[in-house]
Amino acid sequence: MNPPLLALNGIIRRYGAITAVGRINVTVAAGQRLAITGPNGAGKSTLLGLIDGTVTATSGKVIYDGTDITTWPTHRRARAGIARVFQHPQVAARHTVLGNILLGVHRHHRTGTALLPPRRAAARLMREMTLHLADQTGLRTVGTHLAGHLSYGHRRQLDLAMALAGQPRLLLLDEPTAGLSDHETERITRMLSALPDTMTVLIVEHDPAVAARITTTTLQLNAGQPTAEGGPA
Ligand code: ATP
Repeated sequence: MNPPLLALNGIIRRYGAITAVGRINVTVAAGQRLAITGPNGAGKSTLLGLIDGTVTATSGKVIYDGTDITTWPTHRRARAGIARVFQHPQVAARHTVLGNILLGVHRHHRTGTALLPPRRAAARLMREMTLHLADQTGLRTVGTHLAGHLSYGHRRQLDLAMALAGQPRLLLLDEPTAGLSDHETERITRMLSALPDTMTVLIVEHDPAVAARITTTTLQLNAGQPTAEGGPA
């Protein structure tokens, strides 16, 4: 087992009388692929929010790569390599697909998450990274299309490409196949199962067949509490 990349220690999130996540302890090893399952309202999205910083903890600690990041804002966590793909795609509709990916690459270059050489060499490298990401996410053939004209499936692939642009160490995916056709689900599943082994992935996924192809362990939640943890069986 690799050393832990992420640990949630006694993490709690309450909304008034509702306990969305109740004193959870979870350790995720570097390179682990963990599925988070459970019924509606189980606390799955809240758990992802506690990790990416969009939700603040009521109590408990979030430890990432040995550092307590519990009070870090989202942008600081993103710079440290935590990326999240949301349920609803967030892309610049008037830019092309490649333009969007380039924006993602550029944003991470500007904020210093990727190590790139200066000026012209950097511009060339960013273009190469953009094309590589387009290939990796199956978007090369629609590279010149406007993002606003893409099918829903392709927009989700674009959102994934933009998250990958930051070369994240920890990728959080919130229902990546929700609302997709069988064909689109197959495309995304194949892409996710081909992510580099070094990337740690947490995925909220309702479809057990999809989860089984991408992940090796599952954390099942109910009413903010783990009810099962282990391999797919
Ligand atoms: P779903 O599968 O429906 O997305 P989920 O497992 O992701 O559900 P959460 O969205 O994390 O569940 O919600 C857990 C509980 O916390 C629910 O009872 C929800 O109503 C409540 N909750 C989540 N966010 C808030 C909020 N901002 N304000 C009040 N209650 C909230």
